[in-house]
Amino acid sequence: MFNMAQLVFTFTVFNKFYCMIQLSFWEKESFFAPQDIIIVGSGFVGLWSALQLKLKNPAYKITILERGIIPTGASTRNAGFSCFGSPSELLADVVSMGEDKMWQLVEMRYKGLMEIRKHFTEASIEYDGCGGYECFTSESDDWNDSFKKLDWLNKGLQNITGHKNLFTITDEKISQFGFRGFDHLIENRLEAGLHSGKLVQVLLQKVQGLGVQVLTGIEVKSYQSHHHGIELETASIAYEGNNLSFTTGQLLLCTNAFTRQLFPTIDIIPNRGQVLITAPIDNLSFKGTFHFDKGYYYFRNVGNRLLLGGARNKAFELENTTDMQTNEIIQTALEEFIQQHLLPGITYTITDKWSGIMAMGSEKSPIIQSISSNVYCCVRMSGMGVALAPFVAKEIATLMN
Ligand SMILES: Cc1cc2nc3c(=O)[nH]c(=O)nc-3n(C[C@H](O)[C@H](O)[C@H](O)COP(=O)(O)OP(=O)(O)OC[C@H]3O[C@@H](n4cnc5c(N)ncnc54)[C@H](O)[C@@H]3O)c2cc1C
Repeated sequence: MFNMAQLVFTFTVFNKFYCMIQLSFWEKESFFAPQDIIIVGSGFVGLWSALQLKLKNPAYKITILERGIIPTGASTRNAGFSCFGSPSELLADVVSMGEDKMWQLVEMRYKGLMEIRKHFTEASIEYDGCGGYECFTSESDDWNDSFKKLDWLNKGLQNITGHKNLFTITDEKISQFGFRGFDHLIENRLEAGLHSGKLVQVLLQKVQGLGVQVLTGIEVKSYQSHHHGIELETASIAYEGNNLSFTTGQLLLCTNAFTRQLFPTIDIIPNRGQVLITAPIDNLSFKGTFHFDKGYYYFRNVGNRLLLGGARNKAFELENTTDMQTNEIIQTALEEFIQQHLLPGITYTITDKWSGIMAMGSEKSPIIQSISSNVYCCVRMSGMGVALAPFVAKEIATLMN
Protein backbone atom coordinates (compact mmCIF):
# COMPACT_ATOMS: atom_id res chain seq x y z
CA MET A 1 0.00 0.00 0.00
CA PHE A 2 1.17 3.60 -0.73
CA ASN A 3 1.19 6.14 2.10
CA MET A 4 0.18 9.77 1.39
CA ALA A 5 3.78 11.07 0.98
CA GLN A 6 4.55 8.35 -1.57
CA LEU A 7 1.35 9.10 -3.44
CA VAL A 8 2.15 12.83 -3.66
CA PHE A 9 5.69 12.04 -4.83
CA THR A 10 4.46 9.57 -7.46
CA PHE A 11 1.84 12.04 -8.71
CA THR A 12 4.46 14.83 -8.99
CA VAL A 13 6.89 12.63 -10.94
CA PHE A 14 4.06 11.35 -13.15
CA ASN A 15 2.83 14.87 -13.77
CA LYS A 16 6.33 16.14 -14.55
CA PHE A 17 6.84 13.34 -17.03
CA TYR A 18 3.69 14.32 -18.87
CA CYS A 19 4.41 18.05 -18.71
CA MET A 20 7.78 17.45 -20.28
CA ILE A 21 6.66 15.11 -23.03
CA GLN A 22 7.77 16.39 -26.42
CA LEU A 23 6.53 15.24 -29.80
CA SER A 24 9.00 13.15 -31.72
CA PHE A 25 10.11 13.98 -35.24
CA TRP A 26 8.18 10.88 -36.41
CA GLU A 27 4.99 11.95 -34.68
CA LYS A 28 5.20 15.44 -36.17
CA GLU A 29 5.68 13.94 -39.63
CA SER A 30 2.73 11.55 -39.31
CA PHE A 31 -0.04 11.94 -36.71
CA PHE A 32 0.44 15.69 -36.33
CA ALA A 33 1.39 16.57 -39.92
CA PRO A 34 -0.51 19.43 -41.62
CA GLN A 35 -3.89 18.31 -42.97
CA ASP A 36 -6.08 19.37 -45.88
CA ILE A 37 -9.16 19.24 -43.65
CA ILE A 38 -9.63 18.99 -39.91
CA ILE A 39 -13.10 18.13 -38.65
CA VAL A 40 -13.90 18.91 -35.03
CA GLY A 41 -16.34 16.40 -33.49
CA SER A 42 -16.81 12.71 -34.28
CA GLY A 43 -20.59 12.43 -33.89
CA PHE A 44 -22.80 11.44 -36.82
CA VAL A 45 -22.21 14.74 -38.62
CA GLY A 46 -18.41 14.69 -38.29
CA LEU A 47 -18.24 11.07 -39.45
CA TRP A 48 -20.68 11.40 -42.35
CA SER A 49 -18.90 14.59 -43.45
CA ALA A 50 -15.53 12.81 -43.44
CA LEU A 51 -17.06 10.05 -45.54
CA GLN A 52 -18.59 12.44 -48.08
CA LEU A 53 -15.38 14.49 -48.32
CA LYS A 54 -13.33 11.34 -48.94
CA LEU A 55 -15.83 10.18 -51.57
CA LYS A 56 -15.49 13.60 -53.22
CA ASN A 57 -11.71 13.51 -53.18
CA PRO A 58 -9.96 10.35 -51.92
CA ALA A 59 -6.63 12.23 -51.82
CA TYR A 60 -7.78 14.63 -49.06
CA LYS A 61 -5.74 14.29 -45.86
CA ILE A 62 -8.45 14.42 -43.21
CA THR A 63 -8.20 14.26 -39.42
CA ILE A 64 -11.13 14.26 -37.02
CA LEU A 65 -10.41 15.66 -33.54
CA GLU A 66 -12.76 14.47 -30.80
CA ARG A 67 -12.51 15.58 -27.20
CA GLY A 68 -14.16 12.47 -25.77
CA ILE A 69 -12.73 8.96 -25.80
CA ILE A 70 -15.72 8.18 -27.99
CA PRO A 71 -18.17 10.74 -29.43
CA THR A 72 -19.72 12.41 -26.39
CA GLY A 73 -22.70 14.55 -27.36
CA ALA A 74 -25.88 13.14 -28.85
CA SER A 75 -24.94 10.54 -31.45
CA THR A 76 -24.35 7.59 -29.13
CA ARG A 77 -26.85 8.78 -26.52
CA ASN A 78 -30.11 9.13 -28.47
CA ALA A 79 -33.14 6.90 -28.98
CA GLY A 80 -32.19 5.47 -32.38
CA PHE A 81 -35.38 6.48 -34.20
CA SER A 82 -34.94 6.39 -37.93
CA CYS A 83 -37.75 8.84 -38.58
CA PHE A 84 -38.67 11.88 -40.66
CA GLY A 85 -41.59 13.57 -38.89
CA SER A 86 -44.83 12.68 -37.10
CA PRO A 87 -48.08 14.44 -38.18
CA SER A 88 -48.43 16.84 -35.24
CA GLU A 89 -44.72 17.72 -35.36
CA LEU A 90 -44.91 18.52 -39.08
CA LEU A 91 -47.97 20.71 -38.53
CA ALA A 92 -46.23 22.51 -35.66
CA ASP A 93 -43.26 23.07 -37.99
CA VAL A 94 -45.54 24.66 -40.60
CA VAL A 95 -46.59 27.20 -37.97
CA SER A 96 -43.03 27.91 -36.76
CA MET A 97 -41.10 27.84 -40.06
CA GLY A 98 -43.60 27.84 -42.95
CA GLU A 99 -44.61 25.10 -45.39
CA ASP A 100 -41.61 25.27 -47.70
CA LYS A 101 -39.01 24.92 -44.97
CA MET A 102 -40.99 22.16 -43.27
CA TRP A 103 -41.07 20.08 -46.48
CA GLN A 104 -37.38 20.83 -47.15
CA LEU A 105 -36.54 19.43 -43.74
CA VAL A 106 -38.64 16.30 -44.33
CA GLU A 107 -36.89 15.77 -47.66
CA MET A 108 -33.44 16.15 -46.06
CA ARG A 109 -34.32 13.55 -43.41
CA TYR A 110 -35.86 11.12 -45.88
CA LYS A 111 -32.86 11.34 -48.21
CA GLY A 112 -30.56 10.96 -45.20
CA LEU A 113 -32.31 7.75 -44.20
CA MET A 114 -31.94 6.40 -47.74
CA GLU A 115 -28.23 7.19 -47.52
CA ILE A 116 -27.88 5.14 -44.30
CA ARG A 117 -29.55 2.18 -46.03
CA LYS A 118 -27.24 2.59 -49.02
CA HIS A 119 -24.03 2.37 -46.99
CA PHE A 120 -24.82 -0.12 -44.24
CA THR A 121 -26.53 -3.50 -43.97
CA GLU A 122 -29.54 -3.88 -41.69
CA ALA A 123 -27.68 -6.40 -39.53
CA SER A 124 -24.65 -4.13 -38.96
CA ILE A 125 -26.77 -1.34 -37.44
CA GLU A 126 -29.66 -3.47 -36.09
CA TYR A 127 -32.00 -1.66 -38.45
CA ASP A 128 -35.57 -2.72 -37.65
CA GLY A 129 -38.24 -1.64 -40.15
CA CYS A 130 -40.89 -1.85 -37.44
CA GLY A 131 -42.90 1.22 -38.52
CA GLY A 132 -43.42 4.48 -36.65
CA TYR A 133 -46.57 5.75 -34.92
CA GLU A 134 -47.94 8.89 -33.34
CA CYS A 135 -50.28 8.38 -30.38
CA PHE A 136 -53.12 10.84 -29.64
CA THR A 137 -55.85 11.48 -27.14
CA SER A 138 -59.18 12.26 -28.80
CA GLU A 139 -59.74 15.58 -27.07
CA SER A 140 -56.38 17.00 -28.19
CA ASP A 141 -55.83 19.70 -30.81
CA ASP A 142 -52.99 17.55 -32.14
CA TRP A 143 -55.47 14.85 -33.13
CA ASN A 144 -58.07 17.24 -34.57
CA ASP A 145 -55.47 19.08 -36.65
CA SER A 146 -53.69 15.92 -37.81
CA PHE A 147 -56.98 14.23 -38.76
CA LYS A 148 -58.13 17.27 -40.76
CA LYS A 149 -54.80 17.63 -42.57
CA LEU A 150 -53.98 13.95 -43.14
CA ASP A 151 -54.65 14.01 -46.91
CA TRP A 152 -52.59 17.16 -47.31
CA LEU A 153 -49.71 15.64 -45.34
CA ASN A 154 -49.91 12.43 -47.36
CA LYS A 155 -49.76 14.33 -50.67
CA GLY A 156 -46.66 16.20 -49.53
CA LEU A 157 -45.01 13.00 -48.33
CA GLN A 158 -45.84 11.26 -51.60
CA ASN A 159 -44.01 14.01 -53.52
CA ILE A 160 -40.90 13.28 -51.45
CA THR A 161 -41.00 9.52 -50.92
CA GLY A 162 -43.04 8.30 -53.88
CA HIS A 163 -45.21 6.32 -51.42
CA LYS A 164 -49.00 6.82 -51.34
CA ASN A 165 -50.94 7.31 -48.10
CA LEU A 166 -47.92 7.00 -45.88
CA PHE A 167 -49.84 8.15 -42.80
CA THR A 168 -52.67 5.74 -42.04
CA ILE A 169 -55.00 5.66 -39.04
CA THR A 170 -54.49 2.38 -37.19
CA ASP A 171 -56.56 2.85 -34.01
CA GLU A 172 -57.28 -0.89 -33.85
CA LYS A 173 -53.65 -1.48 -32.80
CA ILE A 174 -53.99 0.48 -29.54
CA SER A 175 -55.49 -2.42 -27.59
CA GLN A 176 -53.24 -4.93 -29.35
CA PHE A 177 -50.23 -2.89 -28.15
CA GLY A 178 -51.65 -2.80 -24.60
CA PHE A 179 -51.61 1.01 -24.35
CA ARG A 180 -53.93 2.90 -22.02
CA GLY A 181 -55.12 6.50 -22.35
CA PHE A 182 -54.51 6.86 -26.10
CA ASP A 183 -57.51 7.08 -28.45
CA HIS A 184 -55.88 7.26 -31.87
CA LEU A 185 -52.78 6.05 -33.68
CA ILE A 186 -51.36 7.23 -36.99
CA GLU A 187 -48.82 4.88 -38.53
CA ASN A 188 -45.96 5.63 -40.92
CA ARG A 189 -44.80 2.30 -42.33
CA LEU A 190 -41.46 3.66 -43.55
CA GLU A 191 -40.10 4.60 -40.14
CA ALA A 192 -37.74 2.32 -38.26
CA GLY A 193 -35.43 1.88 -35.30
CA LEU A 194 -31.68 1.31 -35.31
CA HIS A 195 -28.76 0.88 -32.93
CA SER A 196 -27.04 4.28 -32.64
CA GLY A 197 -23.90 2.94 -31.00
CA LYS A 198 -23.41 0.41 -33.78
CA LEU A 199 -24.09 3.03 -36.47
CA VAL A 200 -21.31 5.22 -35.03
CA GLN A 201 -19.00 2.19 -34.88
CA VAL A 202 -19.52 1.18 -38.50
CA LEU A 203 -19.18 4.80 -39.63
CA LEU A 204 -15.89 5.05 -37.74
CA GLN A 205 -14.64 1.84 -39.32
CA LYS A 206 -15.69 3.03 -42.75
CA VAL A 207 -13.96 6.41 -42.60
CA GLN A 208 -10.82 4.95 -41.03
CA GLY A 209 -10.79 2.36 -43.82
CA LEU A 210 -10.76 5.25 -46.29
CA GLY A 211 -7.73 6.78 -44.57
CA VAL A 212 -9.35 9.33 -42.26
CA GLN A 213 -7.38 9.75 -39.03
CA VAL A 214 -9.54 9.97 -35.89
CA LEU A 215 -7.78 11.29 -32.78
CA THR A 216 -9.72 11.22 -29.54
CA GLY A 217 -9.13 12.89 -26.18
CA ILE A 218 -8.21 16.17 -27.90
CA GLU A 219 -10.32 19.27 -27.33
CA VAL A 220 -10.06 22.16 -29.78
CA LYS A 221 -9.84 25.34 -27.72
CA SER A 222 -9.49 27.95 -30.47
CA TYR A 223 -8.37 28.46 -34.06
CA GLN A 224 -6.59 31.23 -35.95
CA SER A 225 -6.24 31.81 -39.66
CA HIS A 226 -2.73 32.53 -41.00
CA HIS A 227 -1.45 32.93 -44.53
CA HIS A 228 -0.15 29.32 -44.44
CA GLY A 229 -3.42 27.83 -43.14
CA ILE A 230 -5.51 27.55 -40.00
CA GLU A 231 -3.80 26.78 -36.71
CA LEU A 232 -5.67 25.03 -33.92
CA GLU A 233 -4.90 25.32 -30.24
CA THR A 234 -5.91 22.16 -28.40
CA ALA A 235 -5.96 20.64 -24.94
CA SER A 236 -5.34 16.99 -24.19
CA ILE A 237 -4.92 15.29 -20.84
CA ALA A 238 -2.15 13.06 -22.18
CA TYR A 239 -0.16 16.00 -23.55
CA GLU A 240 -0.89 18.49 -20.77
CA GLY A 241 1.64 21.31 -20.77
CA ASN A 242 2.66 20.65 -24.33
CA ASN A 243 1.69 22.93 -27.18
CA LEU A 244 -0.13 20.34 -29.25
CA SER A 245 -1.11 22.39 -32.27
CA PHE A 246 -2.52 21.32 -35.62
CA THR A 247 -2.43 23.04 -38.98
CA THR A 248 -5.02 22.59 -41.68
CA GLY A 249 -6.08 24.09 -44.98
CA GLN A 250 -9.78 23.93 -44.11
CA LEU A 251 -11.61 23.54 -40.84
CA LEU A 252 -15.08 22.04 -40.35
CA LEU A 253 -16.90 22.38 -37.04
CA CYS A 254 -19.27 19.46 -36.36
CA THR A 255 -19.63 20.31 -32.71
CA ASN A 256 -23.45 20.63 -32.64
CA ALA A 257 -24.67 21.74 -29.18
CA PHE A 258 -21.13 22.73 -28.11
CA THR A 259 -20.38 25.06 -31.03
CA ARG A 260 -20.71 28.30 -29.05
CA GLN A 261 -17.44 27.47 -27.26
CA LEU A 262 -15.64 27.98 -30.58
CA PHE A 263 -18.06 30.35 -32.31
CA PRO A 264 -19.93 32.29 -29.60
CA THR A 265 -22.40 34.16 -31.83
CA ILE A 266 -23.93 31.11 -33.48
CA ASP A 267 -27.70 30.65 -33.06
CA ILE A 268 -27.61 27.47 -30.96
CA ILE A 269 -29.28 26.61 -27.68
CA PRO A 270 -28.11 23.37 -26.06
CA ASN A 271 -30.95 21.08 -25.06
CA ARG A 272 -30.56 18.08 -22.83
CA GLY A 273 -32.61 14.99 -23.67
CA GLN A 274 -33.07 12.21 -21.12
CA VAL A 275 -33.72 8.55 -21.79
CA LEU A 276 -34.34 5.37 -19.81
CA ILE A 277 -34.52 1.70 -20.75
CA THR A 278 -36.07 -1.25 -18.93
CA ALA A 279 -34.90 -4.81 -18.44
CA PRO A 280 -36.46 -7.29 -20.89
CA ILE A 281 -40.23 -7.60 -20.34
CA ASP A 282 -41.96 -10.95 -20.94
CA ASN A 283 -44.39 -10.74 -23.85
CA LEU A 284 -43.87 -7.01 -24.47
CA SER A 285 -46.98 -6.33 -26.54
CA PHE A 286 -45.80 -3.54 -28.86
CA LYS A 287 -43.18 -3.15 -31.52
CA GLY A 288 -42.33 0.09 -33.28
CA THR A 289 -41.14 3.65 -32.73
CA PHE A 290 -43.70 5.98 -31.16
CA HIS A 291 -44.21 9.71 -30.62
CA PHE A 292 -46.66 11.50 -28.39
CA ASP A 293 -47.38 15.20 -27.79
CA LYS A 294 -45.49 16.66 -30.79
CA GLY A 295 -42.53 14.40 -30.04
CA TYR A 296 -42.05 15.58 -26.44
CA TYR A 297 -42.39 11.90 -25.50
CA TYR A 298 -40.87 9.17 -27.64
CA PHE A 299 -40.64 5.46 -26.98
CA ARG A 300 -39.84 2.22 -28.79
CA ASN A 301 -39.10 -1.41 -28.22
CA VAL A 302 -35.47 -2.52 -28.24
CA GLY A 303 -35.97 -6.27 -28.51
CA ASN A 304 -38.34 -6.84 -25.61
CA ARG A 305 -37.18 -3.82 -23.62
CA LEU A 306 -38.98 -0.48 -23.48
CA LEU A 307 -36.88 2.63 -24.25
CA LEU A 308 -38.52 5.95 -23.35
CA GLY A 309 -37.23 9.50 -23.63
CA GLY A 310 -38.38 13.10 -23.52
CA ALA A 311 -40.51 15.07 -21.03
CA ARG A 312 -38.29 18.08 -21.74
CA ASN A 313 -41.45 20.21 -21.65
CA LYS A 314 -41.67 19.53 -17.88
CA ALA A 315 -38.60 21.71 -17.24
CA PHE A 316 -37.57 23.68 -20.33
CA GLU A 317 -35.20 26.08 -18.55
CA LEU A 318 -33.46 23.33 -16.59
CA GLU A 319 -32.85 21.32 -19.76
CA ASN A 320 -31.15 24.15 -21.68
CA THR A 321 -27.75 22.89 -20.64
CA THR A 322 -24.67 21.01 -21.84
CA ASP A 323 -24.47 19.20 -18.48
CA MET A 324 -24.96 15.45 -19.04
CA GLN A 325 -26.59 14.57 -15.73
CA THR A 326 -30.09 13.16 -15.42
CA ASN A 327 -32.56 14.81 -13.05
CA GLU A 328 -35.47 13.72 -10.90
CA ILE A 329 -38.16 15.97 -12.42
CA ILE A 330 -37.75 14.50 -15.88
CA GLN A 331 -37.10 10.93 -14.78
CA THR A 332 -40.20 10.98 -12.55
CA ALA A 333 -42.31 12.33 -15.43
CA LEU A 334 -41.01 9.52 -17.66
CA GLU A 335 -41.87 6.86 -15.07
CA GLU A 336 -45.37 8.30 -14.63
CA PHE A 337 -45.82 8.12 -18.39
CA ILE A 338 -44.89 4.42 -18.38
CA GLN A 339 -47.36 3.59 -15.63
CA GLN A 340 -50.15 5.71 -17.08
CA HIS A 341 -49.88 4.76 -20.75
CA LEU A 342 -47.38 2.09 -21.71
CA LEU A 343 -47.18 -0.69 -19.12
CA PRO A 344 -50.25 -0.20 -16.91
CA GLY A 345 -50.24 -2.82 -14.18
CA ILE A 346 -47.08 -4.47 -15.50
CA THR A 347 -44.01 -4.88 -13.31
CA TYR A 348 -40.78 -3.63 -14.87
CA THR A 349 -37.25 -2.67 -13.87
CA ILE A 350 -35.31 0.29 -15.22
CA THR A 351 -31.73 -0.77 -15.96
CA ASP A 352 -30.21 2.40 -17.44
CA LYS A 353 -30.84 6.14 -17.45
CA TRP A 354 -28.77 8.63 -19.40
CA SER A 355 -28.83 11.96 -21.18
CA GLY A 356 -27.42 13.49 -24.35
CA ILE A 357 -27.24 17.05 -25.63
CA MET A 358 -29.11 18.27 -28.70
CA ALA A 359 -28.68 21.59 -30.50
CA MET A 360 -31.77 23.74 -31.02
CA GLY A 361 -32.01 27.42 -31.99
CA SER A 362 -34.41 30.11 -33.15
CA GLU A 363 -34.97 27.95 -36.25
CA LYS A 364 -35.20 24.20 -36.62
CA SER A 365 -33.22 23.95 -39.87
CA PRO A 366 -29.58 22.87 -39.67
CA ILE A 367 -26.79 25.43 -40.14
CA ILE A 368 -24.61 24.39 -43.07
CA GLN A 369 -22.34 27.30 -43.98
CA SER A 370 -18.96 28.96 -44.28
CA ILE A 371 -18.27 31.10 -41.20
CA SER A 372 -14.99 32.66 -42.33
CA SER A 373 -12.34 32.01 -44.95
CA ASN A 374 -11.84 28.21 -45.12
CA VAL A 375 -13.80 27.65 -41.91
CA TYR A 376 -17.17 25.90 -42.13
CA CYS A 377 -19.78 24.57 -39.78
CA CYS A 378 -22.44 21.89 -40.06
CA VAL A 379 -24.41 22.01 -36.85
CA ARG A 380 -27.86 22.30 -35.15
CA MET A 381 -29.36 18.91 -35.91
CA SER A 382 -32.20 19.36 -33.38
CA GLY A 383 -33.83 16.05 -32.42
CA MET A 384 -33.41 14.27 -35.76
CA GLY A 385 -29.70 14.03 -36.47
CA VAL A 386 -29.78 10.30 -37.25
CA ALA A 387 -31.66 11.11 -40.45
CA LEU A 388 -30.27 14.58 -41.12
CA ALA A 389 -26.55 13.86 -40.75
CA PRO A 390 -25.99 11.87 -43.96
CA PHE A 391 -27.79 14.56 -45.97
CA VAL A 392 -26.13 17.64 -44.44
CA ALA A 393 -22.76 15.93 -44.83
CA LYS A 394 -23.28 15.82 -48.60
CA GLU A 395 -24.22 19.51 -48.62
CA ILE A 396 -21.15 20.60 -46.65
CA ALA A 397 -18.85 18.43 -48.78
CA THR A 398 -20.19 20.22 -51.86
CA LEU A 399 -19.71 23.64 -50.24
CA MET A 400 -16.09 23.01 -49.21
CA ASN A 401 -13.32 23.50 -51.80
C1 LIG B 1 -31.77 11.94 -25.77
C2 LIG B 1 -31.70 12.14 -27.24
C3 LIG B 1 -32.52 11.40 -28.09
C4 LIG B 1 -32.45 11.58 -29.46
N1 LIG B 1 -33.15 10.72 -30.26
C5 LIG B 1 -33.01 10.81 -31.60
C6 LIG B 1 -33.63 9.88 -32.45
O1 LIG B 1 -34.26 8.94 -31.98
N2 LIG B 1 -33.50 10.04 -33.79
C7 LIG B 1 -32.79 11.08 -34.32
O2 LIG B 1 -32.75 11.22 -35.55
N3 LIG B 1 -32.13 11.95 -33.54
C8 LIG B 1 -32.21 11.83 -32.20
N4 LIG B 1 -31.55 12.70 -31.39
C9 LIG B 1 -30.75 13.75 -32.02
C10 LIG B 1 -29.45 13.21 -32.60
O3 LIG B 1 -28.86 12.30 -31.71
C11 LIG B 1 -28.51 14.39 -32.87
O4 LIG B 1 -29.17 15.32 -33.72
C12 LIG B 1 -27.22 13.96 -33.57
O5 LIG B 1 -26.62 12.91 -32.87
C13 LIG B 1 -26.27 15.14 -33.67
O6 LIG B 1 -25.06 14.68 -34.20
P1 LIG B 1 -23.80 15.65 -34.24
O7 LIG B 1 -22.69 14.91 -34.83
O8 LIG B 1 -24.20 16.94 -34.86
O9 LIG B 1 -23.54 16.00 -32.70
P2 LIG B 1 -22.88 15.17 -31.51
O10 LIG B 1 -23.22 13.74 -31.60
O11 LIG B 1 -23.23 15.89 -30.27
O12 LIG B 1 -21.33 15.30 -31.79
C14 LIG B 1 -20.60 16.45 -31.52
C15 LIG B 1 -19.23 15.99 -31.07
O13 LIG B 1 -18.34 17.10 -31.00
C16 LIG B 1 -17.46 16.88 -29.92
N5 LIG B 1 -16.92 18.19 -29.54
C17 LIG B 1 -17.62 19.27 -29.16
N6 LIG B 1 -16.79 20.33 -28.95
C18 LIG B 1 -15.53 19.89 -29.21
C19 LIG B 1 -14.25 20.51 -29.18
N7 LIG B 1 -14.10 21.79 -28.87
N8 LIG B 1 -13.15 19.77 -29.51
C20 LIG B 1 -13.28 18.46 -29.85
N9 LIG B 1 -14.48 17.81 -29.89
C21 LIG B 1 -15.60 18.53 -29.59
C22 LIG B 1 -18.34 16.25 -28.84
O14 LIG B 1 -17.58 15.57 -27.88
C23 LIG B 1 -19.24 15.35 -29.68
O15 LIG B 1 -18.73 14.04 -29.76
C24 LIG B 1 -31.59 12.56 -30.02
C25 LIG B 1 -30.78 13.31 -29.17
C26 LIG B 1 -30.82 13.11 -27.80
C27 LIG B 1 -29.92 13.91 -26.91
